Amino acid sequence: KANRKFHPEDTVVDCGHGVLLGGGNFQVIAGPCSVEGDNLWDIARGVHEAGATMLRGGAYKPRTSPYSYQGMGERGLELLCEVGHSLDMPVVSEVMDPRDVEGFLDRGVDVLQVGTRNAQNFPLLRELGRTNAPVLLKRGMGCTIDEFLMSAEYVMSEGNPNVILCERGIRTFETRTRNTFDANAIPVVHHLSHLPIIADPSHATGYTRYVRPIAYAATAAGADGLEMEVHDDPQNALSDGAQALTPTQFSDAMRRISLIRSAV
Ligand code: PEP
Ligand code: MN
Repeated sequence: KANRKFHPEDTVVDCGHGVLLGGGNFQVIAGPCSVEGDNLWDIARGVHEAGATMLRGGAYKPRTSPYSYQGMGERGLELLCEVGHSLDMPVVSEVMDPRDVEGFLDRGVDVLQVGTRNAQNFPLLRELGRTNAPVLLKRGMGCTIDEFLMSAEYVMSEGNPNVILCERGIRTFETRTRNTFDANAIPVVHHLSHLPIIADPSHATGYTRYVRPIAYAATAAGADGLEMEVHDDPQNALSDGAQALTPTQFSDAMRRISLIRSAV
């Protein structure tokens, strides 16, 4: 179902609030790694003003250590929806447990993200496939492009065609960056599949100083959008502060992204 051979036209995913992604509709998702509290209002206003069209924020965080900050849970989802929807932005948040899918939708989360660690969690993918909600499916850090597309197939085979793929870097021998951004995945996925593919330069690099160049590279390579982490006070962020852009840095990135888009 994800294969372009059987479906030549690009899929356009309706993310809600009038925001379409794919088939020439480029969208930028921005917001903090984790919803932390009322600072979300300032972050959201900042990214909205700079041109982001969707708000992200994790409420259930897949942390490597069980002792790291785990997120605000239900209250985080409620705050994310309250803030995002007040700006008429669809909201994106990661779901880790198939039993939580219904609760995410009941609370108004527009786009359900599957993180890299759950990219081959087949019961979760199938559960999302039984909804009609847009799914933002991140590439598994150890998955080939074919395996990545098969994960999308799990969602689609249950009846949900609304899949957005996301290249967020893969694990390689390189240690200078958190992951290795695979720019190849963008044209390769466009060749093999009709699904939209966006890029996440934040997790792909792990360091604020590298996020903008990789955002530009992904845009030039034809990505259908970007997902970027933005925090008002990165040094005190409860997760992923080292890769966060400030709202000012984000707005600078948005200016150059739009220049690149008009040039390619
Ligand atoms: C995230 O987007 O916050 C996240 C945890 O991403 P990934 O699953 O790509 O690491
Ligand atoms: Mn993060």
